[in-house]
Amino acid sequence: MAITVVGSVAFDSIETPAGRKERCLGGAATYFSISASFFTSVRVIAVVGEDFGAAEEAVFDARGIDTRGIEHARGKSFFWQGSYLENLNEAKTHATELNVFADFEPKIPDSYRDSEFLFLANIDPVLQRRVREQMPGVKLVAGDTMNYWIKDHRPALKEVLKGLDVLLINDTETRMLAGNNNLVQAARGVLALGPRTLVVKHGEYGATAFFGDHSFAPKSDGSAHHPFRAPALPLEEVVDPTGAGDSFAGGFFGYLASRRELTPAILRRAMFYGGVMGSFACERFGTERLQKLTRKEIDERFTLFRELTHLD
Ligand code: AMP
Repeated sequence: MAITVVGSVAFDSIETPAGRKERCLGGAATYFSISASFFTSVRVIAVVGEDFGAAEEAVFDARGIDTRGIEHARGKSFFWQGSYLENLNEAKTHATELNVFADFEPKIPDSYRDSEFLFLANIDPVLQRRVREQMPGVKLVAGDTMNYWIKDHRPALKEVLKGLDVLLINDTETRMLAGNNNLVQAARGVLALGPRTLVVKHGEYGATAFFGDHSFAPKSDGSAHHPFRAPALPLEEVVDPTGAGDSFAGGFFGYLASRRELTPAILRRAMFYGGVMGSFACERFGTERLQKLTRKEIDERFTLFRELTHLD
């Protein structure tokens, strides 16, 4: 089943303890779609500027990602500059330039309209909502956001949260959104804003799913879900954590879209595939590692994740 994703397609300048990279291809929708493309077909909605050329387009093409919904506008693409010098789990933002995204009016190509899955990757919540409204027939909607939007765009963000089946954000964003430092209480606070399921990403420590009263993957006996924690892979070296969260989301949602049924067991596996894809993203700068990845490597790492947590 196809996923349509809206979010940033960007150029990133990144500094980590392993080095620095200027203006590499990035953006939430970019990482998400490359990651999800290993599981299902992906269609992107975004806008890019004149600096987005054949080399960038080729990255999407190589993974068979549908880019008919990427508009080419006059001006510069979204640009983000960040570093991870003190904490590899949390980016420090030095610059965010919306550029062509500032006046973006998303248009959904007709060929995208039968998508059953919609992912609202990190971007202005006003744009996320516009896309959501133009895709009324989707079966499952998940989304992401970040501190930038939580701080200064809260009313628009709250409108988006009301309609989400799954929200995927990190610990700090969860605490910030709920205004509560205890993770469990904060998760409850976020679920009260609308999402039916909340997946909290803990960087190198894995991710936890919290469930509201109406999970999209109900248990067969109708009983309540307990939270579920999936691991992250301890890595020898984290070269660049940029995009790990979006790659997690791509693995998670891509796997869900590849399955006929949405059961609690499938949801748990999706959490593991999320961790698998997030771990690969960290191994090289930008999208480099994801571009070279094979399905065999993904399956081998999934086995490693199982062994990491298996008891008997
Ligand atoms: P992640 O490390 O998974 O949280 O996402 C990193 C990506 O998010 C980078 O490639 C950036 O281009 C993109 N990004 C950074 N800030 C924003 C923002 N305010 N809105 C949308 N995308 C952003």
